Amino acid sequence: MKIKQLSEHVWECSIWTIIPVSVWLVKTETGLTLVDAGVSWMAGGLLRQIKAMNLPLERIVLTHGHSDHTGSIRKLREHFEVPVYVHEAEIACMEGRQPYPGRRKAQASVEAGLVQPLAMEQPVGGLVPYWTPGHSPGHTAFYHERDGVLLAGDLFTTKRGRLHQPMAMFTADMAQAVESGAIVEQLKPELLSICHGGVVVRPHEQYEAYKLEWMNSSYNRHRNAGSAK
Ligand SMILES: [Zn+2]
Ligand SMILES: [Zn+2]
Repeated sequence: MKIKQLSEHVWECSIWTIIPVSVWLVKTETGLTLVDAGVSWMAGGLLRQIKAMNLPLERIVLTHGHSDHTGSIRKLREHFEVPVYVHEAEIACMEGRQPYPGRRKAQASVEAGLVQPLAMEQPVGGLVPYWTPGHSPGHTAFYHERDGVLLAGDLFTTKRGRLHQPMAMFTADMAQAVESGAIVEQLKPELLSICHGGVVVRPHEQYEAYKLEWMNSSYNRHRNAGSAK
């Protein structure tokens, strides 16, 4: 596992499968918060890193409930019996009671009763959660205001320091996801870190171009669809 300290309080822990998968450990004076839980085989590396940081894990918070963000929860909870929080709009889908929008089948990514609803815009473990729906109904980004770091899950992908749209195949509502990306204009973080790609410095400076590109591409798609008739 690759460990990279992004700022005074935030560590990014990544592996590479078909795509990169990152999660974050965020430090306060009393302990650690894990943001997202990645895939199951990240558990060992995360446990080693938690031990090396010499602080207890206090909670797990999730940007959303897709299975590549919940994989190590079970193993970690064998060592730290911590609560797990997510935006309440994710819970029915995560527990397999209903399919994620745009998917045909319901599929559980956690056992029923495990995850608890997370209050938005209430500080938790040094982070403030902001609702950023679109990729999934309860998608949440976490802002470490003191460090100026935004942990944004699957709100974007990135390539060579540029913002790109989240993966279309797994995104319930792309227009809404692009709109939710405006959180970077609201917060103006120094650094954006996402789950599947590298960091972006001062992402708000790119947001307008990112949104415009999306609007143009969706306009062209509609026009092409119209002229094909
Ligand atoms: Zn996702
Ligand atoms: Zn993902």
